[in-house]
Amino acid sequence: MKLIFEQSHPGHRSHFLPASDVPAAALPEDLARASALDLPELTESELARHYEALAQQVHGVNKGFYPLGSCTMKYNPRIDEDAAALPGFTGVHPLQSETTSRGCREVLRQAEERLTAVTGMDRMTFQPAAGAHGEYMGLLLIKAYHERRGDKNRTKVLVPDSAHGTNPASAAMCGYQVVSIPSDANGLVDLEKLREAAGPDTAALMLTNPNTVGLFDPNILEITRIVHQAGGLCYYDGANLNAIMGWARPGDMGFDVVHLNLHKTFATPHGGGGPGSGPVGCKAFLAGFLPGSALATGGEAPCQVRAFHGNFLVVVKALAYLDTLGGEGIREAAAQAVLNANYLMHLLRDGGYPMAFDHTCMHEFVITLEKLKHEKDVSALDVAKALLDHGMHPPTMYFPLIVHEALMVEPTETESKESLEAAAESYLEVLAEANENPADMHSRPLHTYVRRLDEVTAARSPIVKYEAPSA
Ligand SMILES: *Cc1c(COP(=O)(O)O)cnc(C)c1O
Repeated sequence: MKLIFEQSHPGHRSHFLPASDVPAAALPEDLARASALDLPELTESELARHYEALAQQVHGVNKGFYPLGSCTMKYNPRIDEDAAALPGFTGVHPLQSETTSRGCREVLRQAEERLTAVTGMDRMTFQPAAGAHGEYMGLLLIKAYHERRGDKNRTKVLVPDSAHGTNPASAAMCGYQVVSIPSDANGLVDLEKLREAAGPDTAALMLTNPNTVGLFDPNILEITRIVHQAGGLCYYDGANLNAIMGWARPGDMGFDVVHLNLHKTFATPHGGGGPGSGPVGCKAFLAGFLPGSALATGGEAPCQVRAFHGNFLVVVKALAYLDTLGGEGIREAAAQAVLNANYLMHLLRDGGYPMAFDHTCMHEFVITLEKLKHEKDVSALDVAKALLDHGMHPPTMYFPLIVHEALMVEPTETESKESLEAAAESYLEVLAEANENPADMHSRPLHTYVRRLDEVTAARSPIVKYEAPSA
């Protein structure tokens, strides 16, 4: 496919700007360009075809199955986009007066009310723009709390080894030392190891439950008790709330701070690099450290990670989603997400895919292809690439790190029984192929726009700048 610059023809136009209603004024000479700006010149139909061709090369939820684990790539209802496109929301300015922005403030208030009810928290800020940003902000709250109490020796954050990579990264960004807590044989937090690690230097524990192998830790109350008893606080990574929303609340599990990914669970598409939102909720005793709160830190500014209220339109979508589903609908969505994951897990397990942990799963499950790798030299990567030929997005690969040759599958609640069965059939075809013709698997995919990419070169010497051919 040609780049838009390569399709350019001098004189082709696709813009029809209205006549200016103010007199023309020349720029000062020293600010004006010396030569014309080099922009592509295309007709409207050429332009439309160019973007349509690009769109057709992209795989998305609207095109096919997209079970990327730990990402919740579910279908996002159009009605939520419609709500966010209302001119009263898109045209608002953050410095507008209170009296002319009441509707927007009401959206923030209602979204806070709903989401604190879902998480069991007391207050919430919508400032953070992503999950990792929320983790960072949550840890700032925890840090401010310890500092305020003069508790200066809490330098460590405990993070289970199954955690999402952003957890230790955020803790390190906040200046904490990360202590990894091993998982036990069942993929859950090893309580003995946690007891050994928790102490007077513990600032916090960061945990996601259900964890990244799709398991709900039944010891959660004991886990948060151990950390609190040591004087630390408990941070809940709520990026993937799909499995528990409406059923269980981090606040009731003993957590003090939580972030959510509105761009996973609450109706904003995720993965295309668009605006996200990682709101942070906390219990009342931490609320004074939130942005916009009365200064509780003795003269210091409250924790602040972004201007104003973050990506506001993402909050509008979340509120539209919550209100169209309602309390019962939210519960049903979570139940369906868990049912779908278990149904697909059973279809794949019965068809010969080994599971990393043999449990009932929550919203996702993890396959381990260690044996296939060992016996047939077919890796998780080979299987993932072969799935591309079946018109679907592969699952998350090589994560969590505690599982070898991992494939992590999260089908979400928006897939029908039939689409899960069709997906399972593709997975089983790929497995049969891997067993029969293992050597062929290294050349998969065969039918995509680009074949197997040289990922090492792409990572080590990426070409990120287009060099126009010299005229
Ligand atoms: C996606 C995810 C994050 C990070 O969210 P971003 O918005 O990508 O920064 C953190 N934790 C878990 C468990 C996640 O799945």
